[in-house]
Amino acid sequence: MIELNELRTLLVENGIPSYRANQVMHAVYKEGKINYSNMTVLPSFVKEFFEMNLPIFSIEKVRESISSSGNTHKTLFRLHDGKKIEAVLMRFKDGRKTVCVSSQVGCTLKCKFCATGKGGFKRNLTYEEITDQVLYFQNLLKDEDSHVGNVVFMGMGEPFLNYDNVIKSISILNDPITFNIGLRNITVSTSGIIPQIKQFADDARQVKLAISLHAPNDKIRTSIMPIAKKYPLKELMLTCKEYTEKTHRRISYEYVMLRGINDSDSNAHELSKLLHEQLCHVNLIPYNETNVKGMKGSTKNRTEQFKKILELHKIPVTVRISLGKDIKAACGQLAGKSSCNLG
Ligand code: SF4
Repeated sequence: MIELNELRTLLVENGIPSYRANQVMHAVYKEGKINYSNMTVLPSFVKEFFEMNLPIFSIEKVRESISSSGNTHKTLFRLHDGKKIEAVLMRFKDGRKTVCVSSQVGCTLKCKFCATGKGGFKRNLTYEEITDQVLYFQNLLKDEDSHVGNVVFMGMGEPFLNYDNVIKSISILNDPITFNIGLRNITVSTSGIIPQIKQFADDARQVKLAISLHAPNDKIRTSIMPIAKKYPLKELMLTCKEYTEKTHRRISYEYVMLRGINDSDSNAHELSKLLHEQLCHVNLIPYNETNVKGMKGSTKNRTEQFKKILELHKIPVTVRISLGKDIKAACGQLAGKSSCNLG
């Protein structure tokens, strides 16, 4: 759904009073109406105008899968040009409902552990295509008398390489007339695009920032994340410190546990040293099977040992709960073969 001001402009240009835009927004976002024909507040000529000119959804559901536990719901969407993306609804035990959205079709960054990158980059999503992923699940939850409480930009793509649309979609998600999701309940995860991290500190200081670190040094990081050549760790850590000083917000560092690559005791000590004295939290991510050859996840014991070393160094750390493995909706598995949450 396009945003309110654009909707008003469109209406006025077509001789329809702009207050009709508010009525439509209310019907869509507050009453969960997804057909203009149900919007009794609109006169028939306005309904006809909308039906002809403005589909409520910019994305169309193709397929959905629900995990055996019922707590994860993955949906494949088709875009107007036939390209496809996926988004996931996660229901946590404490009642939280979180939607993981995609920000691009494919990705330019080619991280070694992720098949999204291998599939190449197709295009950026528009702000509308991003917020409509949330709208889809919002409507689904309405039937359960519930709503989306959190949004994470951890699906396909690198959000900071589609910066303007991501920022615009965040402001829509936060808008009381639409989703009314608190900025602190929105997380953007980046592989470490330094100029946009700096910009983000100014534009969206209430929004949570997650950095996909995945390695304690440049040697390992560049071997699995080519983008690290452009943005080395020293510069990235400096930027993160500046971000924290400016925003007073804690950064989450994502660290996917890759067997024999980044999961040794010495890697854990090195990571602790790197993050020493930072206001941060480390999320250890169990690596899920994708169709990327030669990459295996660390064992549970190895992950526990790695975690203990970080704790020893007083680094706040958790192991991420992995939902939806059986429907390939867990980290690194979106789009049937891939995706972010890792990068
Ligand atoms: S992990 Fe994320 S940033 Fe890296 S290639 Fe995959 S989608 Fe892109």
